[in-house]
Amino acid sequence: MPLSIPVTWSEAHRLHAPETAVWVGVPIEADELPERADRIRSALEEAGTTVVDAQPHDDSPLLAVHDPGLVEFLRTAWATWQEAGMPAESGQRDVVGYIFPTPGLLAGLESRVPKALSARTGAWSFDTMTAISRGTWEAARGAVDTALTAADLVLAGAPAAYACCRPPGHHVTRSAFGGSCYLNNAAVAAHYLRDAGHERVALLDVDAHHGNGSQSIFWDRGDVLTGSVHVDPAAGWFPHFLGFADESRAGNLNVTLAPGSDDDAWLAGVDQLVAAAREHGSTALVVALGVDAAADDSNSPLGVTEQGFREAGRRLGALGLPTVVVQEGGYVLDTVGPLVRAALEGIEEGGAL
Ligand SMILES: [Zn+2]
Repeated sequence: MPLSIPVTWSEAHRLHAPETAVWVGVPIEADELPERADRIRSALEEAGTTVVDAQPHDDSPLLAVHDPGLVEFLRTAWATWQEAGMPAESGQRDVVGYIFPTPGLLAGLESRVPKALSARTGAWSFDTMTAISRGTWEAARGAVDTALTAADLVLAGAPAAYACCRPPGHHVTRSAFGGSCYLNNAAVAAHYLRDAGHERVALLDVDAHHGNGSQSIFWDRGDVLTGSVHVDPAAGWFPHFLGFADESRAGNLNVTLAPGSDDDAWLAGVDQLVAAAREHGSTALVVALGVDAAADDSNSPLGVTEQGFREAGRRLGALGLPTVVVQEGGYVLDTVGPLVRAALEGIEEGGAL
């Protein structure tokens, strides 16, 4: 039977093609590549899905979850960097931060927007890995439209829709980008469903890394439940400073896994997220679907199999809620497509769509 979950898609993703990321001061090879999305799309087309072009939306759903200053910075950063001659002056083609207004630096004083362009990036970002290159804004904004178009399909009656978002988004907070993410596609979709009349929405994140941005955006809100199952930051994994089990409280659940965890432990974590959504009384679901918990993905030390992703899909689908699935991580080009396909087929099987 063909996959009935439609895929929303923006060609603009290709415009974001970073060559390097800066880690501990060293340029490393980028792995959040355009080919990821292309491989996913091919695998889903082979499964018989329908591809729907992302429709443009105005900025209001974006500004509902992000600081207008962050959005404006991302929109203008590349052009401003070029116009100021920074590539020639600094030797850096892309926009990369170097000084960050941490609590330790500010010592309680309010952060200001620095005059120097080289310093301004640090006001809106939290790492050096996430460079802004030519086309990053267009791709990130296209990813938001991709998520919103999937939400539109679900609001119009589709049981589920999958947004093939690239770049990913779940690490972005209200006012800071990082972790290879620029705008929080899943958070935008969750708030949009909320605005469209779903009084309680669950945003469940099964990427191998903690969805710190989504957690912080909805931290003080009971209407959007955030839940994340991920490798324990206490074991030394990104985002290092957030995602600990003891951050769980009403409206937020973090399930942490030891490195080496396999299908059984991961699926038990997924079950906890599903139970939390039931208890929350959510009437709509957003799944932040990263597949980097896969055994062959070196971005995490987890060992989830294709069968594990299918089973997770079944358990999420069994909630029986209108579901928007948003792509997050997953970096092994040969397997990213089949893993996403398995998860979506599982959702379909679980929900008897
Ligand atoms: Zn990840």
